[in-house]
Amino acid sequence: MTRSLNGKVAVITGAGSGMGRSMALRLAEDNAKIAVWDINGEGAEETARLVREAGGTAIAIQADCSDAAAIKAAAEQTRRELGPILILVNNAGIAPFNNFLEISEELLTKVLKINLVGPFLVSQECVPDMIAAKWGRIINITSSSVQSGSALQTHYTSSKGGLLGLTKCLAMALGEHGITCNMIPPGSIDTPMLRAADVMQQPGAIEAYGKALPVGRIGQGEDIAAAAAFLASEEAGYMTGQTISVNGGRYMGSA
Ligand code: NAD
Repeated sequence: MTRSLNGKVAVITGAGSGMGRSMALRLAEDNAKIAVWDINGEGAEETARLVREAGGTAIAIQADCSDAAAIKAAAEQTRRELGPILILVNNAGIAPFNNFLEISEELLTKVLKINLVGPFLVSQECVPDMIAAKWGRIINITSSSVQSGSALQTHYTSSKGGLLGLTKCLAMALGEHGITCNMIPPGSIDTPMLRAADVMQQPGAIEAYGKALPVGRIGQGEDIAAAAAFLASEEAGYMTGQTISVNGGRYMGSA
């Protein structure tokens, strides 16, 4: 535990479940005050309860993080109850699997709205606080599918590719204000989302997938949380527009 975040307020979208919950617990350990924003109010309350039980500070806000009015209301409540928002983790997302030719415009629009428009609008809402403080951290959770491609996720991967573009643009636009923006593209992480995936429904599929990876195991929320904690820290201040690939070696990419 570093305590390095020193009471700064961190908004984590979609932190009512999965790796968002792990990041909430980890950033709270590092002494951030946590605002859990999730469309699932019960999940958000549970995460906030777990953070408080561990000795941290957290509030839960039920909000559709792709809806401008809901985002504004969530930000106002966060500022009122905790203070200005200096750390933002754009983590909320949905990940359907569909054949390319069977994806309706309606489903495509929904995926883009939640996975790309949402982080864009949430960032627009939170960045003024960071500019005022001359310090900020934005961490975007994308997907290793952006690096490798994914045949059954053309809609999802397109949305996450947009978030990669947003990451680099915000890094360029906001660097002069002391704000960094980086992305974590997770590989397969053991969360409710992964367990619900069509491709993981055979008994033992998750374990078998993990065994085939260079590190020999499926990822855990804590693996992502460790990278997020570094990117949120003071020590990561010279890193922006970058990617930390936390994927067990699934995709190694270019140097
Ligand atoms: P999860 O389903 O466990 O958690 C996602 C959370 O986002 C849920 O609590 C859900 O209620 C919330 N959410 C969804 N739509 C929302 C909206 N409109 N507004 C507010 N909250 C909303 O999934 P997870 O695996 O923890 O995924 C977190 C992020 O990681 C997602 O962006 C996902 O695409 C990405 N990711 C996951 C994996 C994986 O293997 N689990 C791999 C690559 C990328």
